[in-house]
Amino acid sequence: MASRPVVTRVADGAYLVAGTAVNWVVLTDGDAVTLIDAGYPGDAGAVEAVLEGIGYRIGQVEAVLVTHAHIDHVGGLSGLLGRARFPVYLSEREVHHARGEYRQSAGPADVLGRLWRPGFPGWALSILRAGALRHVTLPDARPFPGPGPLDLPGRPVPVPTPGHTSGHSAYHLPDLGAVVSGDALVTGHPTSPAAGPQLLMPFFSHDNALAAASLDALTALDADLLLPGHGPLHRGPVREAVARARERA
Ligand SMILES: [Zn+2]
Repeated sequence: MASRPVVTRVADGAYLVAGTAVNWVVLTDGDAVTLIDAGYPGDAGAVEAVLEGIGYRIGQVEAVLVTHAHIDHVGGLSGLLGRARFPVYLSEREVHHARGEYRQSAGPADVLGRLWRPGFPGWALSILRAGALRHVTLPDARPFPGPGPLDLPGRPVPVPTPGHTSGHSAYHLPDLGAVVSGDALVTGHPTSPAAGPQLLMPFFSHDNALAAASLDALTALDADLLLPGHGPLHRGPVREAVARARERA
């Protein structure tokens, strides 16, 4: 069972959706859709319901872009790929993670050891219900078809931001002046006492030094709207959001 999704229309043809303690993004252009990330396995129905709510069907998804292959970002694809055919793109490095060739995620032991902390019990229960312990692999995941802007609704530009996972990718949306930052930069998390731009707690990430260094890639982007993998959207220059996250780290 997943949380009821909360949809925020951030611009013409761009929506940030808050699912079960994780976000995904819907970009539309005419009758076609780009989906960026897809929530937990239990969020699959919500992904489809949100599309229907804004006037689209799952069959109109031209491609799904993935920031990284953690269960809270790819889980929903297990259900959605049985309902329609669309390519799933990630960075070349992350494709191997998505295909299940290796694992780079916090496990149940990491969470169990922290259940005494504020925010953890409720969060753990909600993600368990949404299928957090399932292992979803995407054997047909493929690398981006080429460098630069992708020829998809929203014209997203992949931005390599390794660290949280080795092949993590953010997406710059130059036309909107926005960045879909995935877990390279978030604005909150049920397990974090802080609100506003921040890095995730270290145990969530594979290489924290690299994750901190990857913030440089976001600083360089011309954008004043941050659409993170966790937490609410954040308006203001993304380079200032990065500076705030760095002050906290
Ligand atoms: Zn995440």
